[in-house]
Amino acid sequence: MLENKVAIVTGGTRGIGLAIVRKFLDNNAKVVLFGSREESVNRAIEILRNENDKYNVIGYYPNLCDEKDVDDIFKEIVNKYGHIDILVNNAGVTATTPIEDYKIEDFDKTMDINTKATFVCSKEIVKYMKDSGKGVIINTSSMVSLYGQPCGVAYPVSKYAVNGMTKSLARELGKYNIRVNAIAPGVTNTDMVANLDEKYIEPLLKTIPLGRIGEPEEVANAYVFLASDLASYITGAILQVDGAAMN
Ligand code: NAD
Repeated sequence: MLENKVAIVTGGTRGIGLAIVRKFLDNNAKVVLFGSREESVNRAIEILRNENDKYNVIGYYPNLCDEKDVDDIFKEIVNKYGHIDILVNNAGVTATTPIEDYKIEDFDKTMDINTKATFVCSKEIVKYMKDSGKGVIINTSSMVSLYGQPCGVAYPVSKYAVNGMTKSLARELGKYNIRVNAIAPGVTNTDMVANLDEKYIEPLLKTIPLGRIGEPEEVANAYVFLASDLASYITGAILQVDGAAMN
C-alpha cells in the first residue's frame, strides 16, 4: 500500500511508533524513524533488521523542538531519497500529576514534545511536500483529547491542541494536496501504559465495549490506511482507534 513512499515516524523506537514503522515497512515504504537517543534508535533498527534484513529503514535523534535540527535532517532525507511523502508526528509523553502538584516545567515538557514538536516538524516538512505536489501528515492524538482525563492535565491539553492543529492545517494545506489527519488511540498496550498505576487503567477498562485494551499493531493499521492513497479524500479527520472507549 505504500510502495515508493518515504515516511518519517517520530517516536518510532518503541510502542505505537515502532508498530507503525514495522507496518509501513511491511507495506514497502522506506522509513526514517526518529527517537530521543542514539542507543534507542540503533536498538530499534537492529530489532527490525533482525526481523527482516530487506527492511529499508534508517534513524535519527533530532531535537524535535529545534527547527534547524529538524530541517537539517529533513534535507538529508530529501538528498538521499528525493522526496518525503509521509510525516507521522507520534513522539509523546504522558503524566498523571494532580493539578496542585504540577510543576510549570513538567507542563512545558509535555506541551513541548506532544504539541510544539508536532508544530515544528509539520512546519519544516511543508516546503518539501509542496515541492512534491503532495504529502500526508498524521498526528498521534489520544482518546483523552475528546473526553479529558481525571489527572495529568497537560496531557489532554497537549492532545486537544494537536486536534486543533490537525483540523487547521488540513484547511490551510489542502490547496497543496497535503492531507492532515490525526489518530486518537485508546488505551494501548505500550510502555506508556505499563508505567501507569493500575488504579488509572482499571476504571478505563470498564468503559471499553470491546472489553480489552488495544495492541500497537491494531492502532498502526489505521496509520497505514490514512497514509495510503486509499485515504486520498480524507483530511482533517480525528480517527478514534479506541474500541469505542467512553462513547
Ligand atoms: P512510548 O512511551 O512507548 O513511546 C514514546 C515514543 O516517543 C518513544 O519512541 C520515545 O523515544 C519518543 N519520545 C518521548 N520523548 C521524546 C523526546 N523528548 N524527544 C523525542 N522522542 C521522544 O509511548 P506510546 O504508547 O507508544 O505512545 C506513542 C504516542 O501515542 C504518543 O504520542 C502517545 O501520547 C500516544 N498515545 C498512546 C496511548 C497509549 O495508551 N499507549 C493512548 C493514546 C495516545
